[in-house]
Amino acid sequence: MSVPENLERVREKMVQAGAKTGRSANDVELVAITKTHPSEKVREAVDAGQMLFGESRVQEARAKIPELPSNLRWHFVGHLQKNKIRHALPLFELFHGVDSLALAQELNRIAAEEGRHPCVLLEINVAEEGSKFGFTAEAVRAEMEALLALPRVSIEGLMCIPPIAQEPEASRKCFAELRELRDSLEKEFDLRLPRLSMGMTQDFWIAVEEGATLVRVGTAIFGDRPKRPKD
Ligand SMILES: *Cc1c(COP(=O)(O)O)cnc(C)c1O
Repeated sequence: MSVPENLERVREKMVQAGAKTGRSANDVELVAITKTHPSEKVREAVDAGQMLFGESRVQEARAKIPELPSNLRWHFVGHLQKNKIRHALPLFELFHGVDSLALAQELNRIAAEEGRHPCVLLEINVAEEGSKFGFTAEAVRAEMEALLALPRVSIEGLMCIPPIAQEPEASRKCFAELRELRDSLEKEFDLRLPRLSMGMTQDFWIAVEEGATLVRVGTAIFGDRPKRPKD
């Protein structure tokens, strides 16, 4: 299958999942994850109308993004290392995986120096395994006041990476928990966290059914990635 055909199938599946729960295609954004794929491959998706992309490594993004049209939108979806923040800030409109107060503080400090106002999602370790990164529900509550006090960082929602499972349905519980945590944080702290980033190739339609506003899909669009450590 070609990239345009793959994109079409992913979009269709998102629309169907949205329709089940009374949501329209406009309620959920598809972030096409381009890590490991060269810019020529990304261009096939651009030609098919995709404008929003995600990368998980700053180094790779710094090489790839300038090779592509400048009107594309880029999200950072990986684990952000503190020493990469300065390079990452001008490249990405949203950071999905802010996974500790220390990282948020460093982002705030460097954003002030660079004159930036980064938008972020807090990564939650819902299953308290899966990803080894992220806030536990308990930690995010304990640290929310400190996070909200960071003047440069705008917290727009939550993100999760469930444990890898055989069955797509296995992720549903994590997605529902992320949504419920968001709902209770909004009440407890009297704030708005409108964005939920959840769902990948293995389970993105389930995430849409459970309230995702962003799904991060790589393999289903671009095909298999060469194996590499640390992803
Ligand atoms: C690689 C990656 C994805 C995309 O994964 P696929 O299974 O290829 O869809 C989504 N989110 C994050 C954080 C990733 O690192």
